[in-house]
Amino acid sequence: MVNKLGNQAFIALGSNMGIREEYLRKAIQLLKEHPHIEVCRESNIYETVPVGYVEQAAFLNMVIEVKTALSPVPLLAVTQSIELECGRTREVRFGPRTLDLDILLYAEEEMKKEGLIIPHPRMHERAFVMVPLSELVPERLLLNVHQTVKEIAQSLPDREDVKLWIPN
Ligand code: AMP
Repeated sequence: MVNKLGNQAFIALGSNMGIREEYLRKAIQLLKEHPHIEVCRESNIYETVPVGYVEQAAFLNMVIEVKTALSPVPLLAVTQSIELECGRTREVRFGPRTLDLDILLYAEEEMKKEGLIIPHPRMHERAFVMVPLSELVPERLLLNVHQTVKEIAQSLPDREDVKLWIPN
């Protein structure tokens, strides 16, 4: 399944603790430094109202496109080690975090393993994922919902809670 040039994948980044932009930048830098990962494109950064556990600070979110010779499970191991390196602890599920990295899409792969589901099972419900992803691949069809990324992004009720964030 994996070719030598690498597979296209999309990763969502989020942070709502500390200097949020620095965590996003550090994660991208660490991904770039990995010998088998190339960071190809970055969406804009958005500031978003937390969903789920709402008693927490606003998030910064973005999506990046990578090419990687790693298959999905080793890629997840890399993203999880970057979360840890950026001080991530898991105290409250859906709660505050210095850095959250989710693998959204990996080539045309559909997989359900313990600890890794691709496409990410909740991505199409989350405006903070679909809005930045639609900058990168608006016409990509999500087979599980039979809609394009752009159509989903435009139809999500909480898209108004996702605002373009301009760095100082
Ligand atoms: P979170 O607390 O949101 O970072 O969720 C992390 C958990 O989701 C980890 O235990 C992962 O093994 C699991 N997981 C399942 N599918 C994915 C995915 N596509 N990307 C990242 N984490 C995933």
